[in-house]
Amino acid sequence: MKSWLIIGLLLVSSGYAYAAESVCYGVPANGRLKGGVKLPTRGRNFQAYSEAGAMLGRTHAHSQVVASIVKAYADLQRSVPGKQYVYGETGLAEGGPFKPHKTHQNGLSVDFMVPVLDARGRSVPLPGGVSNRYGYDIEFDKNARYRDLRIDFEAMAEHLYALHRAGQRDDGAKIDRVIFAPEFLPKLFASRRGAYLRQHLEFTRGKVWWRHDEHYHVDFQVRCHRR
Ligand SMILES: [Zn+2]
Repeated sequence: MKSWLIIGLLLVSSGYAYAAESVCYGVPANGRLKGGVKLPTRGRNFQAYSEAGAMLGRTHAHSQVVASIVKAYADLQRSVPGKQYVYGETGLAEGGPFKPHKTHQNGLSVDFMVPVLDARGRSVPLPGGVSNRYGYDIEFDKNARYRDLRIDFEAMAEHLYALHRAGQRDDGAKIDRVIFAPEFLPKLFASRRGAYLRQHLEFTRGKVWWRHDEHYHVDFQVRCHRR
């Protein structure tokens, strides 16, 4: 009798786990998503680019992608305590066209705003609001500076490293490619994790439609159904 009860509980719990898994279709530039999961709006060391964007449902992703992102932030809380991270737009719960982005359609694309240091060297969230399109309109100069802020390449490299490691877990999603301003890649590769990142991640260097200096776009790898 006891074993039946346990089997029953296992069935219930595995059924629940299955229901929580998202299903993706197609590719980031032409796809959709079933059962997209909403990212937590904030945690101890991270926050969404905009409460309004989150409320409008623009921060959903595939369940495995969300698992990777949350695990990475938890790891960063231990490896680089005090560093503040902001994530940007991800996608809709059901995927599909997501203006103004050309991809972000099947739950596998995520924008991360660059971590920054202020004039006193403190890690602060990239300032975002209606006036600068939630950070997306910020332009960094060739020295990776904007007003009294500068890109924290060490924190960014730690984040990509944590995401890469989280993607190797069963519940996570591997990184497929990273899009980031090519002129800043040497600074990223000069960081402590730079050589590792250069060896293990693919950085798209071709011309892209948007200058990716205020955010880095990450496409994750999940096996998707055909469109
Ligand atoms: Zn993007």
